[in-house]
Amino acid sequence: MYKNYWGGVWYDGGAGSVDVENPATGQIIGRQALASIEDVDAAIKAARQAVNDRVWSGMRPADRGRMVRKLGEYFTLNRMEIAAELATESGKPLFEALIEVDGTARYFEYYGCQSDNFQGDSIPLGDAYIDFTELEPLGISAQIIPWNYPLEMVGRSVGAALAVGCVTVIKSPELDPLSSRHFALAAEYAELPVGVMNLICGEGAVAGAALAGHGDVDQVVFTGSVATGRSVAIAAAQNLVPCVLELGGKSAAIVRKDADMDLLVESVRWGIFFNAGQVCSALSRVIIHQDRLEEFSQRIAQLVSSIEVADASVVAEECLMMGAMVSTVQRDRAAGLVQQALEDGAVLLAQGSAPSQGAFYPPTVLQVTPESDIAQMEVFGPVLCVIPYEDDQQALAIANGTDYGLVSGVFSQDINACLLLARRLRAGQVFINEWFAGGVETPFGGVKQSGYGREKGREALLNYVATKNIAVRLRS
Ligand code: NAD
Repeated sequence: MYKNYWGGVWYDGGAGSVDVENPATGQIIGRQALASIEDVDAAIKAARQAVNDRVWSGMRPADRGRMVRKLGEYFTLNRMEIAAELATESGKPLFEALIEVDGTARYFEYYGCQSDNFQGDSIPLGDAYIDFTELEPLGISAQIIPWNYPLEMVGRSVGAALAVGCVTVIKSPELDPLSSRHFALAAEYAELPVGVMNLICGEGAVAGAALAGHGDVDQVVFTGSVATGRSVAIAAAQNLVPCVLELGGKSAAIVRKDADMDLLVESVRWGIFFNAGQVCSALSRVIIHQDRLEEFSQRIAQLVSSIEVADASVVAEECLMMGAMVSTVQRDRAAGLVQQALEDGAVLLAQGSAPSQGAFYPPTVLQVTPESDIAQMEVFGPVLCVIPYEDDQQALAIANGTDYGLVSGVFSQDINACLLLARRLRAGQVFINEWFAGGVETPFGGVKQSGYGREKGREALLNYVATKNIAVRLRS
């Protein structure tokens, strides 16, 4: 049984347990204890104790940062074991799981390096005063994590929270929670004070809702769907605590007439077929100049036919393989949306093949109209929508014409045109000539229904602190 962990102790769950399945084979690979509402309360009490002890927040930042970096070191030292476990529970190819584990380690490395490099200001008020600000950790950060990147999402936000002196209660996703136990093991490896990193798994509607709405949580970070994000935001608002929401997307690349086709196809390979398309910032719409549509259709058909869809949980070398989706429920949802789109008039430009057993879905490319349901909804699968356009203004209107605004892209050799479009794209991040350009260092987050707040980069550190101003009247 895989357990919950708080206050430095492993616990069974008061809400029973769940079988975790390998989505590629249907085989049960482990049983995860589920936290009850009382367990959530106990985990928060352990976290509160750690806040009150002030060991973590009061530590010299250089020492705290070193410990955060050690969390990353744990993931690096055990990367193969962790990645193998992650691949088996999520359906990802091993090489993608390794990228995720390395990414997790990198977040802890990056944020560990920020601890002693994050400071308040001195504010001049004339001879009669000394005035300065301190950036105080908020206290308990509740972290609700989705199944598509169960490790990397934790590294991303918990790394920043810990770096500035917050303590965390993490709720892992119930579909693939097993590898998350490594956060507790990493906390022990790095010798974090007891109660600084607490980990529970539980049903979203039970443990997730209890965590988001708990009156003793100081801040909530949620990554997941729009519907759940809305309920988390309401719960946080009831307690008047700040909240960061990283929600879904229907992100578009505008491909101008002069675009480099090789760069575009390479970006599509990673942009929509990485993690079987289960990426919030996936390149799910290509808005392409009509003069390049035919060429792109041919190239994309070649790409799709060269992608092998199979259980790749032991394939460590990067290659043109795509694994299973996380569950048959998610696979059936994607298949249903594609079927409906075809009935509504979408044109199938290309579709690969996939095994019939297991949660596999083939890479699929549809030509659609901008207003169609499939062009508006997040499929969260390996499904690319292609929409031709005539001029930049029309492309921009199509790109901005969904409820989402997570990321966007422009492909063109005219950097001036790219930058003008980038300014007018309603998204938190714009990639030019490479999808997923950027890194741990670059702020990430959405506008509109893609959420609010920013993760990644130094900006994310501000999510976890309150500025305190201290003004001193001097006697002359
Ligand atoms: P989800 O909203 O169903 O679940 C996310 C997490 O919330 C899970 O841990 C779940 O148990 C929990 N949860 C469910 N109901 C809850 C409730 N009522 N209160 C509190 N917590 C609850 O999302 P998912 O299906 O796991 O993930 C897929 C979605 O996440 C997609 O829409 C995707 O775009 C989005 N996502 C966004 C980002 C980003 O950074 N913007 C990253 C990854 C995933």
